[in-house]
Amino acid sequence: MKVLVLLAALVAAATSTETFVGHQVLRITPTSDEELQVVQELQDLEELQLDFWLEPRGPGYPVDVRVPFPSLQSFKAHLEANGVSYSIMIEDVQALVDNEQTELLRSHRQLPLSTNTFDYATYHTLDEIYTFMDLLVAENPNLVSKVEIGRSTENRPLYVLKFSKGGTNRPAVWIDTGIHSREWVTQASGVWFAKKIVVDHENDEGLASILDQMDIFLEIVTNPDGFAFTQTQNRMWRKTRSKQSGSVCIGVDPNRNWDAGFGGPGASRNPCSETYHGPYANSEPEVKAIVDFVKSHGNIKAFISIHSYSQLLLYPYGYTRTPVPDQKELHQISEKAVTALSSLYGTNYKYGSIFTTIYQASGSTVDWTYNQGIKYSFTFELRDTGRYGFLLPAKQIVPTAQETWLALKTIMLYTRDHLY
Ligand SMILES: [Zn+2]
Repeated sequence: MKVLVLLAALVAAATSTETFVGHQVLRITPTSDEELQVVQELQDLEELQLDFWLEPRGPGYPVDVRVPFPSLQSFKAHLEANGVSYSIMIEDVQALVDNEQTELLRSHRQLPLSTNTFDYATYHTLDEIYTFMDLLVAENPNLVSKVEIGRSTENRPLYVLKFSKGGTNRPAVWIDTGIHSREWVTQASGVWFAKKIVVDHENDEGLASILDQMDIFLEIVTNPDGFAFTQTQNRMWRKTRSKQSGSVCIGVDPNRNWDAGFGGPGASRNPCSETYHGPYANSEPEVKAIVDFVKSHGNIKAFISIHSYSQLLLYPYGYTRTPVPDQKELHQISEKAVTALSSLYGTNYKYGSIFTTIYQASGSTVDWTYNQGIKYSFTFELRDTGRYGFLLPAKQIVPTAQETWLALKTIMLYTRDHLY
C-alpha cells in the first residue's frame, strides 16, 4: 500500500499534476438572503481560487466549496465575521484523490480481455474505456456498434455506442455521461449501463420490448479531453479544453454552450468561470457533434444527460421560469422514475424542473433537446448529496449504476408506450 501511494506521488510529480493537499470542501447553508449575499461575495473574489461544487441557489440550499489551503483561513474568517456557519464535508481533498489514484494504478496492471472480466467496481482510464467499448462491440456484433460522431478540440474521437436489433432509423433513446469530466461516477455508470443492455437484452422482458421498437445511443465519455485532463493533470476539471482568445483561461462549460437561452442568466461570460458559456452557442465540438447527430437522426424520442452530484432528476426548463407545455407529464414520469430508483437501496432523489429545483441555468443540454421536439428530455444528478461529492468512492459505482438503471428503464418504457 505504501509503495502504491509513493508511486502515485511520483506519477503526480512527473506529470505536474495539480494537488489538493490541505484543501477542504466546506458546506454552507445560507439561512437568509443576507447570508446568501455573503457567500456570493466570496464567489467573486478570484484570488481565493474557490471551486464551487454546488453553486449558491437560495436560502436553505447547501453550497459546497473546495477551498485551497492558502485561502482557508481568510475564507473561514470572512464567514465567521459575518456570522455565517459552515461545516467541513471533506477534511483533506488530496487524501481522497490519492485513494482513487491508487485504485487507477492498480487496475492499470492488466487490460481486460473481455467485458466479462472487466472490473465495473473501479474507475478506469480513457484508454481502458475505449478498450471496453471495442470488446463489447466485438463480442456482440449483432447488437452493438460504435459510431464516431465527431472529434474533440484535442482531436479525440467522440464515440457513441449504438444498441439496435435492426430496422432503419428507428425511434431512439439518447443517453450521455461525463459531459462534465470530473463527475467520474457518471462515465463509470455509463460503462455499466452498456454491459447491462447486452446482458439483459433478451432476458429482461422490459428491455427486450424497448429494443424491439427503439434503438439506444450511449455516449460514455462525452468530454474526453476533460476526462483525460482529470486523470493526468487536474482531477477537478469540469469544462472542455478549448483555448479562449484574449484569455489565459481554458475551456467552456459544455452544459451552458447549447442554443437555448444561450448567454442568459445562469451562465458566465467570464472565460475563467466554471460556468463560462463560450464565445457562441455550439462553439464546443463536443456539443456541436451531438447537435448535428440529433438533427440528422431526426427520430430521437428521449434524451437523458447524466451528471453528478446531488441526487436529482430534472426536466426543462433551466433558462426560464416558464414551465414547459409538458410539465405535468414530465413531472409524473419523474416521480415514477425516482420511485423505481429508490426501490433498490432507498436512495432519496428530488425532482422537478431545472429552474425550480436547482437554479436558473441557460444554454443547458436538455433545454435545447426539448426545444428540438424531444419531449422526454431529462437530466440526472447522481450520488451523493455531498459527503464525497465528485470523489465518490469506487465501491459505490455499481450500486449507483444499478439504481439509476431502474429510473432509465422507467423513462424508456414510458417513451416506448408514447412513441406516436
Ligand atoms: Zn455536471
